[in-house]
Amino acid sequence: MFENVKLLVVGAGFSGSVIAERIANVLNESVLVIDSKLHVGGNSYSETDSASGIECHRYGSHIFHTSSESVWNYIRRFTEFNSYQHKVLTTYQGHVYQMPINLKTVNDYYGLNLKPWEAQEFIRKEAEMAGISEVRNLEEKAISLIGEKLYTAFIRGYTKKQWERDPKELPAEIITRLPVRSNYNANYFQDPYQGIPLDGYGALFRNLLNHPKIEVRLGVNFFEIRDQIPSACTVIYTGMVDQFFDYCHGPLDWRSLRFEWETKDLSDWQGTAVMNYADEEIPYTRIHEFKHYHPERKAVFESDKTVICREYSQTYTPGKEAYYPVNNAENNRKYEKYQAMAKAMPHVILAGRLANYRYWDMDQAINNSLCLFEQIKKDLENGK
Ligand code: UDP
Repeated sequence: MFENVKLLVVGAGFSGSVIAERIANVLNESVLVIDSKLHVGGNSYSETDSASGIECHRYGSHIFHTSSESVWNYIRRFTEFNSYQHKVLTTYQGHVYQMPINLKTVNDYYGLNLKPWEAQEFIRKEAEMAGISEVRNLEEKAISLIGEKLYTAFIRGYTKKQWERDPKELPAEIITRLPVRSNYNANYFQDPYQGIPLDGYGALFRNLLNHPKIEVRLGVNFFEIRDQIPSACTVIYTGMVDQFFDYCHGPLDWRSLRFEWETKDLSDWQGTAVMNYADEEIPYTRIHEFKHYHPERKAVFESDKTVICREYSQTYTPGKEAYYPVNNAENNRKYEKYQAMAKAMPHVILAGRLANYRYWDMDQAINNSLCLFEQIKKDLENGK
C-alpha cells in the first residue's frame, strides 16, 4: 500500500498541508498525506455543527493573524477571510475586564481614570515596587511589566491552570505573547492581517489539499504503518518529535486540552467569542462561543441557538491530543537531542509545532513550511 510512495507527509494540519500543496503545485510531484484523525486540518479544524449551523473550532478558537505579507498572500489563495478582529475579555472575581491589559483594564481594576501617560507612570511605579532586577521566568517577567497586583489578578491564576506549574518554573517568553498597552486598544493581536476563513477551516484545508497529485488517507496512524514505508521515501513528519524517536531520550512534556460542549437555546450566551477566567478556583481557562466569529453569517448569528465550549487544560498522556510544548530548559535540552537525531536522517524532515517543539501560531507554522519546501525543492533538484 505504501511501496511506491516517494514523498510522505505525516499530518494534515497547516504544516503538512502547506508542504504537500507546494510539492504538488510547484514541483508537480506526487505526495501522500496521512493523518490519524478522520478529518484534515489538524487542530485548526472547524466544521459546521449540524444542529445549530454554527461553525465550531473543534480544538478551541483559532483566529488567523499574521504580520507576514507573504504568508497572508499565500493563504488567501485558498480562502477568503472575514473582517473579524479578536477581542478577549477576562473575568476576575466576578468582574469583567479587557485583555490584554490596556488602559481600560488598568482603570477598571484600580477604579481610576488615568490618561495614557499617567498609566505608564503608574504601571512603572507598580513594577518598580516589586524590585525585580533580573528576569529569570514568567512570573518575574510579568511582574516587571505590570507589577504584582495586576499579575496576581490576571496572569497568575490563569497561567497556573493553563500550565499546571508555578509561573516561576515557566519561560518568560510565554508571557511576551501578550502585549501591555497604555491606550484603549483592546485588540488581542497587533498584526495588520487578521480574520476567520469565510467558509471555515475545513474548507480552507480541502482547498489546500485539492490537487490530483495529492492523495490524502485519513484514519491512518503513522506508527502502525511506518515499517511499510520504503527506505528511500522522504518523510515530512509533523507529529510529536519524541514519539517519532520512540521516546529514546525520554518523553517531552506537553499540555493537552479538554473541551466541554454545550448548545444553548439562546441567541447569545456571553456576548463575545472568548471569555477568559482568571480565578484559579474556576477549573476552566476560557469559554468559547463560536457564532461570534462569523457575524456575516447573519441568519445563524441571529438564530436562537448558540454553541459554547469550556476549555480545560490538562497534562498530556499517551492517547490524548498534544497542543502546547512546555519549553523549559530541561525539555528544550531533550528536544535538541531529538533534533540532532533528525538532522542525521537525510530522509526525515521535521515540520510544524509538534515536531519542532515550538509554541508557534498558525502563520508561523505556515512560514516554517514554506521555508522547508524551498529546501526540499533544492534537494530534489540536486538529486538528493
Ligand atoms: N495568559 C494569562 N491570562 C490571560 C491570557 C493569557 O495569564 O487572560 C498567559 C498564559 O500564561 C498563557 C499565555 O499568556 O499561556 C499566552 O496566552 P495566549 O492567549 O497567547 O494563549 P493561547 O491562545 O495560545 O492558548
